[in-house]
Amino acid sequence: MKLLITGLAGFIGHAVARRLSGQGHQILGLDNLNDYYDVALKQARLEDLADCEDIRFVRLDLADRDGMAALFAEHRFDRVIHLAAQAGVRYSLENPHVYVDSNLVGHLNVLEGCRRHGVEHLVYASSSSVYGMNDKVPFATADNVDHPVSLYAATKKANELMAHTYSHLYGIPTTGLRFFTVYGPWGRPDMAMFKFTRAILAGQPLQVFNHGDMSRDFTYIDDIVEGVVRILEVIPGSDPAWRASHGGPDTSSAPYALYNIGHGSPVGLMDFIRAVEAATGREAICDYQAMQPGDVPRTWADTEALFAATGYRPQVKVEEGARRFVDWYRGYYGV
Ligand code: NAD
Repeated sequence: MKLLITGLAGFIGHAVARRLSGQGHQILGLDNLNDYYDVALKQARLEDLADCEDIRFVRLDLADRDGMAALFAEHRFDRVIHLAAQAGVRYSLENPHVYVDSNLVGHLNVLEGCRRHGVEHLVYASSSSVYGMNDKVPFATADNVDHPVSLYAATKKANELMAHTYSHLYGIPTTGLRFFTVYGPWGRPDMAMFKFTRAILAGQPLQVFNHGDMSRDFTYIDDIVEGVVRILEVIPGSDPAWRASHGGPDTSSAPYALYNIGHGSPVGLMDFIRAVEAATGREAICDYQAMQPGDVPRTWADTEALFAATGYRPQVKVEEGARRFVDWYRGYYGV
């Protein structure tokens, strides 16, 4: 297959590309290599893929309408895995416009490319943040309990709505994946596992928001990748597995699907810190702080729909995942 992976230099894009390489696909990866976090880490992820002869990289901004149209016209992708976006809840409070450019205009450009060139399946990243302050647990896509409380989350919810209209109007099969707090090797420096490891190894205090009283359904990168790769095969509307997991062919007029990909068991923030302490062999110095605007107290994925469609349940527990992350971190930074 000819595959487009957007966000190739990103945490999840790099891991998905590595997993799909060597399987007979032609993969084109796109990224604008923005400086939201350490560009050297993004470059290093690309260098890590340099031995994959079936992956080519193009530097392009999703919001570049003409550039995106030309890319789709030139390559005629069979399937698209759309992972590039401006991520981060806190950053969206300070930099709202970049979320509109990358996540809304960019998403529209991807949808248009899929429409004009008959892409057979668009799989795109949504987020657990769309559930917002929902208190019905675990969070299930079918419950329609999403109430975004940050602009980042609102753009992810908008991505789902936009995808629905394109599936409905033009029959483009689209699948949104609500990822739950992803961590692991090559992870993002703005996320908790990375920040906590860096602070603990440097003997510096780490900021613990809401005084530690929150929980997240932390999900190991390999589990996310496995979910993405399996869902790529489950084309909404045409595949028996999709029809089975959605109760039959008549439940929706649009070839549109949404799944959670999360571990399926929330971990308290203090237990998460203990896992990083165990993995580093050092004690954390905690600096307790108030809840941050836009944050939510907990996330918890219902993974039944993912299991029904793919036969897969995320597996890696946080203690094991923390060990693997800290091993990678020590090797990468030589500490
Ligand atoms: P990431 O920031 O590491 O990767 C995103 C990549 O997209 C980056 O390399 C960035 O340079 C690129 N990018 C951003 N804006 C772009 C633009 N306008 N044009 C071209 N490239 C652009 O983030 P990630 O953790 O790999 O996340 C991948 C996707 O999953 C994102 O859509 C994110 O919102 C979503 N997500 C991630 C998590 C998580 O915990 N990591 C949770 C929920 C959802």
